Amino acid sequence: HAKQQGKNNYQYYAASMNAAALERLNLENQLRRALSRGELQLYYQPLVDAATLNTVSAEALMRWRHPELGMISPAQFIPIAEESGLIVAMGAWAVKEACRQLRHWQHLGLRPVPVAVNLSSLQFRHQKIDELVATTLQETGLDPSLLQVELTESAIMQAEEPSVQMLVNLKELGVGIAIDDFGTGYSSLSYLRRFPIDTLKIDRSFIKDILQDADDATITRAIISMAHSLELTVTAEGVETEGQLEFLRDNGCDKIQGYLVSAPVPAAEFVRFMQSPRGENHSAAREASF
Ligand code: C2E
Ligand code: MG
Ligand code: MG
Ligand code: MG
Repeated sequence: HAKQQGKNNYQYYAASMNAAALERLNLENQLRRALSRGELQLYYQPLVDAATLNTVSAEALMRWRHPELGMISPAQFIPIAEESGLIVAMGAWAVKEACRQLRHWQHLGLRPVPVAVNLSSLQFRHQKIDELVATTLQETGLDPSLLQVELTESAIMQAEEPSVQMLVNLKELGVGIAIDDFGTGYSSLSYLRRFPIDTLKIDRSFIKDILQDADDATITRAIISMAHSLELTVTAEGVETEGQLEFLRDNGCDKIQGYLVSAPVPAAEFVRFMQSPRGENHSAAREASF
């Protein structure tokens, strides 16, 4: 009896404990196939000049359109991709896809704006990312200044010498380099000076309550002025309101990105955005609509 009960208990626990792991394993296996099945897609979100509201660049953000589960957000699949190592192949795909898309837009005659691709720290450890980018630029014939990369502050803090060298090589190719989610990683700007970066992106968590929280406002102002003294461009992430935009503009932030301007959208929709008055000159569109 005891044995029987023990076995049942075991099965019970095994079943409940494994549910999460099994689901994860499933997702991991499905993610493995997602690439070859064309289920991954890049969405594009415009970044606009804070003063003129002209679209000056875009960020490519990965989406997974699962055949049964529908759209799965990066918050769910990027951690799985990183823990399984799949991010290396997925990240390489993203670089190539963004370059291919940029070339396509050039053929359509769209006003060229640089596109930023997010890179995982794993790509620096397990991939010659500088060589991948160089080869892709060569194959597509794309102007290197149209490609940018984003690395999170925490990723850059873990970077060891070979990764730093790859960043230097990327910079020498003419590719722009941004630090993503800045302010969350407790790094100092003097430390970041060692890296060949062009842009700091202030994390959304500081922008969110910028009008209510005096500390967030102070930190944001300090980041902007320190970044400028190091000749870095500053982007604010997650700008959702006119008030936030006004604060950022008044305090000299260079670029803004957020739902106020546009959510990330599929490539075709991004083209429509760029061709609309909002894409060409957001401020003109605002004047027209108010
Ligand atoms: P991230 O690089 O910091 O991207 C910005 C995130 O903020 C995106 O989330 C974007 O949709 C969201 N966002 C933009 N504006 C607003 C706003 O006004 N309000 C709010 N609440 N959110 C806003 P998303 O697309 O879900 O991506 C989440 C994260 O997943 C990214 O953060 C990035 O770290 C990672 N990720 C996405 N695509 C890739 C990729 O191709 N490779 C790698 N390694 N990571 C990626
Ligand atoms: Mg990013
Ligand atoms: Mg970010
Ligand atoms: Mg983020």
